[in-house]
Amino acid sequence: MVTPTLNATRFVQSVSLTLALYFSIIVILSMTMIKPAHASGNVFPIQAPNNVGFLPAYILQFLSVSGTLAEMQAAYNAWLALPTTVCRNQYGPVNCGDISPFSSVVTGPFYTLCPAGYVSGGHDCHLIYPISTCPPHSTGAPATNPTSCTCDDPYVPDPTHSNCILDQYTLSLRIVPGQVEPGKQATVIATVINTVTQKPAAGVAVSIKVDVDAGTGGHAHHDAARPKGSLSGGGSTGPDGTVSFTFMAPEVSGTHTFTAQCDSPTCTNNPVTAKIKVKVDGLELITASPYYALQDSAGKVIGAVKNKHSDNHYLTNAAIKKLKDFAERYNGTVLPGAKLYLNDASLVWGGLFDVGSTPWKSPHTAHDRGRSIDIRAENSGGQYEGAVPFAYFDDTIKAAADAHARAALHCQGSIVTAVCLGIPYNRHFHVDF
Ligand SMILES: [Zn+2]
Ligand SMILES: [Zn+2]
Repeated sequence: MVTPTLNATRFVQSVSLTLALYFSIIVILSMTMIKPAHASGNVFPIQAPNNVGFLPAYILQFLSVSGTLAEMQAAYNAWLALPTTVCRNQYGPVNCGDISPFSSVVTGPFYTLCPAGYVSGGHDCHLIYPISTCPPHSTGAPATNPTSCTCDDPYVPDPTHSNCILDQYTLSLRIVPGQVEPGKQATVIATVINTVTQKPAAGVAVSIKVDVDAGTGGHAHHDAARPKGSLSGGGSTGPDGTVSFTFMAPEVSGTHTFTAQCDSPTCTNNPVTAKIKVKVDGLELITASPYYALQDSAGKVIGAVKNKHSDNHYLTNAAIKKLKDFAERYNGTVLPGAKLYLNDASLVWGGLFDVGSTPWKSPHTAHDRGRSIDIRAENSGGQYEGAVPFAYFDDTIKAAADAHARAALHCQGSIVTAVCLGIPYNRHFHVDF
């Protein structure tokens, strides 16, 4: 006889495997149990009120059985039309006397076969009232007297799970960065949230457009041709509920307005707007000095054009310091006691400075970042009050260099000093700081 022996190693392995299996099952079970008790698409069935006076609940309504279904229906409708407080309760008509539609027909033969929706009450058929129904846009299980109702696509439960409603979305816009320099990029991020669940809504198509606000950026003039920058990217929201657009700012500064909307499905707050400043930050108005003039003797701001660009004297702080140094040198050594007459510098928000006859185009190169200014220089026949005399051109250029600035002579058709010495038309010093 062979005595069985315990194989300790195999026993331990077996126990370990069993424990591992149980553990896996527990993990799987606990994972499935995370699901909420009330599935997300479900709504509560509507329970019929019980025993509410004339409002029948699960109670049967008595009907005549002497005729066809149509006749019973007609009798029922007539009964429904009676003053309810007088003539019916949950069991049928009460105190209606002769006007009861049943008084003359209730003595018909026994009726055991009733149409669908009715049950036999012996000699009559009773209309069945459901004890529960599903709210609109939902389907019940079971079909009669449902104990659960599921919203039909695309409806979803409202927050109280009492009704099925269409999904509701809310759109918002964020711009990064909140301000951008002319010609640079910013990102416009559209976020769509499911208003009911407060969760990101994926797959929502969002469209966006951009426009520029009239009168902004130092340009008092406005027309349809004003550059608005461009938008690219976009489409539908991703799993995080966002979709991004790239905004390429125009060279012309100003406030730009984005208008976005959810195209499909729509958002309840369509459309949504957000603004961005296209602007060169930190420009300062050139302050008065005894060494230069910002206005002519008639009090007119030099270079300013009413209803177009009336604020034309903005520079960076560093440029203003160099300008003052330059002007002081001009006043002290080049032409003692004389002032520089300051024409266009930059606009209040910088950017393209369209001084020419064509709006939004710039012959005014390098006046877009607050680091350049034009100074009057002698022209042929011009009444250029305060213009630097031709004889002092060289010394003026040197004084600028001594102030760590660079003055060049610009003129009609050229920005080369040597050339412009011979072209006395629209001639001025263009100074870069
Ligand atoms: Zn302009
Ligand atoms: Zn210039």
